[in-house]
Amino acid sequence: KALRKAVIAGNWKMNKTRPEAKALIEDLKPLVANAACDVVICVPYTNLETALDLTKGTNIKVGAENCHWAASGAFTAEISAGMLTEMGVEYVIIGHSERRQYFGETDVTVNKRVRAALDAGMKVILCVGELLEQREQGITEEICGLQTKIALQGVTKEELKNIIIAYEPVWAIGTGKTATSDQANEVNGTIRSVVEKLYDKAAADALTVQYGGSMNAANAEELLGKEHVDGGLIGGASLKAPDFAAIVAAAS
Ligand code: PEP
Repeated sequence: KALRKAVIAGNWKMNKTRPEAKALIEDLKPLVANAACDVVICVPYTNLETALDLTKGTNIKVGAENCHWAASGAFTAEISAGMLTEMGVEYVIIGHSERRQYFGETDVTVNKRVRAALDAGMKVILCVGELLEQREQGITEEICGLQTKIALQGVTKEELKNIIIAYEPVWAIGTGKTATSDQANEVNGTIRSVVEKLYDKAAADALTVQYGGSMNAANAEELLGKEHVDGGLIGGASLKAPDFAAIVAAAS
């Protein structure tokens, strides 16, 4: 764990107008200025320019919530990784469960988007996680392992340095139901061992594996204290500066 930098990333989802984004970022800046972990905010496309402007010279990094796999073309309403990097956006979330659930994202398209983001020089927050029925069927580790393997197809060991994996049990996202710290640690550890088999121990040991799913100021310390939990991907609690800052503090 000491080998890995903790990363706390906010996922704003489809929230915040530009004035609201500005207020949140201004509130957040002083609260996380002394963070010992990396701090990322992933914001709607419409807020990227605002976020980049307001975080210049600070320790807050900016990410998008998705990107397309093609460099350009007839893909109405999509945004390419190159469009993001040209703006200065460093991070991108790929394969969030809401994309998988509501927008037809598959393991194969996740892999294509991961490839495109890496080719553009971005850092990827790759989300994997099981549905409630899959956990009940006892296939959590297989599902998360398979999602990880397919998403990483064609990714070299060198490129893996630009990947963070976020374990996000779908039943815990936005539900207020958090995985226990032992459940999170167990699956994060499984993901790390899958990565070890695909690459090697050094690569797996260096990989940041986050937990996401109703992480908040009250439960962050317990979750982040676990061996394989190297940070968090935060939805709801990233929308309020004091809540997000408390999670950042718990990771520091
Ligand atoms: C997420 O969407 O990545 C997430 C973890 O959401 P929440 O924290 O609201 O459960």
